[in-house]
Amino acid sequence: MRISVIGCGYLGAVHAASMAQLGHDVIGLDVDEAKVAKLAVGVAPFHEPGFDDLLRRGVESGRLRFSADPAEIRDAEIHFVAVGTPQMSGRLGADMSYVDQAVTTIIEHADPADGARPALVAGKSTVPVGTAEAIAQRLASSGKRLLLAWNPEFLREGFAIQDTLHPDRIVYGLPDDRADGELAKSILDECYAVPLAEDTPLVVANYPTAELVKVAANSFLATKISFINAMAELCDVTGGDVTRLAEAIGHDDRIGRKFLQAGIGFGGGCLPKDIRAFMARAGELGVDQALTFLREVDTINLRRRDHAVHLAEEAVGGLEGKKIAVLGITFKPDTDDMRDSPALDIAGKLWAAGAELAIVDPAAADKLRDRRPDLNVPDTLEEALEGAHAVMVLTPWREFVELDPAAVLPLVAAPNVIDGRNVLDPQRWNDAGWNYFGMGRGVPT
Ligand code: NAD
Repeated sequence: MRISVIGCGYLGAVHAASMAQLGHDVIGLDVDEAKVAKLAVGVAPFHEPGFDDLLRRGVESGRLRFSADPAEIRDAEIHFVAVGTPQMSGRLGADMSYVDQAVTTIIEHADPADGARPALVAGKSTVPVGTAEAIAQRLASSGKRLLLAWNPEFLREGFAIQDTLHPDRIVYGLPDDRADGELAKSILDECYAVPLAEDTPLVVANYPTAELVKVAANSFLATKISFINAMAELCDVTGGDVTRLAEAIGHDDRIGRKFLQAGIGFGGGCLPKDIRAFMARAGELGVDQALTFLREVDTINLRRRDHAVHLAEEAVGGLEGKKIAVLGITFKPDTDDMRDSPALDIAGKLWAAGAELAIVDPAAADKLRDRRPDLNVPDTLEEALEGAHAVMVLTPWREFVELDPAAVLPLVAAPNVIDGRNVLDPQRWNDAGWNYFGMGRGVPT
């Protein structure tokens, strides 16, 4: 099929390359010319495991192209909308201007051939419920033969290719009109023929359900993390160990082990802004009381960041002039994404409190130097650790999780380690001569 992907960021670029991998002929469109220039020659503009290879293969095959010229999307049979929906500055709600602009671009440039079936616009961006209906009306009154489906995306950065090629489920939000709904479904079925043939579960629903599925899933995940972080707060004042607690409750199938890792909380370009936009939308719909629990989820989450700063302060006896080695700055490992990263937020707070920082990150160091030239980002882990009064593991990159406490001890000025992700073995670090501080692991505050 001929496919266009509007917006080639973490989601769109991976989606475009994955669609080419499935055999489709894909044009990726982005307004960011520097990003397009890289993608077009097969160079990944961000860190995502396996993406470099997939991208290069796609570009070399001739089935994957990138452009900043909207005229190039003209004859696509599907236009995927994958632009950003970030939080509006100073407000909870999502900034929908990029989606609005992407739809305008499609209306202006899409031109399904005479006699061919209408082209399908497939929304992948995470949007407030009600957006799809409004876009469908815009398309209907555009005079172009364009149909809309909502096809939310669930990929996780760090596993984005696997999640796109072999998703846990595919969701279609289809038009209520029966004929339109069947046509939209048949176009999506053709696009996703390969994963569907692998028995990927398919959930077919209407527009609002499909929009809500995405924010409901993220709200549930955020709630699970804040739940275990609330338990960590209880463990801290009682001497309990939240990692044992999580293990024990996780053995119950109804609860499950995943997303029960207490620590400095969630971040990234999705969970925080999605729960806030969901609350804002509920307010507009007059049902804000249905989601007041999400306010608490957000508050617990942000409190973890302050708690990590507090632990560091306690460990070193006042932050002013103390050197803190910050290990990891991205919101999770295997990505260079620092959007709403708890690690970056904590680093900013430590810096504001007068600490001397040395930040290392395997994927985001250069981006961080560009964005925050005021922060010290040494080239090596050894330089960061040299003379540190505390070491903080804030992103569980493998090389930090696997650090040998005895080997690095001679480098530091004071043997304090703050395990912001509960990924180190307290016994091993204590035995090697360190003062170990976990997040809810029985070190009362
Ligand atoms: P991103 O900021 O990395 O990418 C968005 C891209 O859209 C940018 O490259 C930007 O230049 C481009 N863009 C903006 N306006 C445009 C326009 N009018 N025409 C063409 N390109 C335009 O964001 P992302 O992380 O890829 O997220 C995109 C959407 O997908 C968001 O709604 C997000 O919530 C959702 N989502 C993201 C993920 C994820 O893991 N990143 C997962 C699921 C859903």
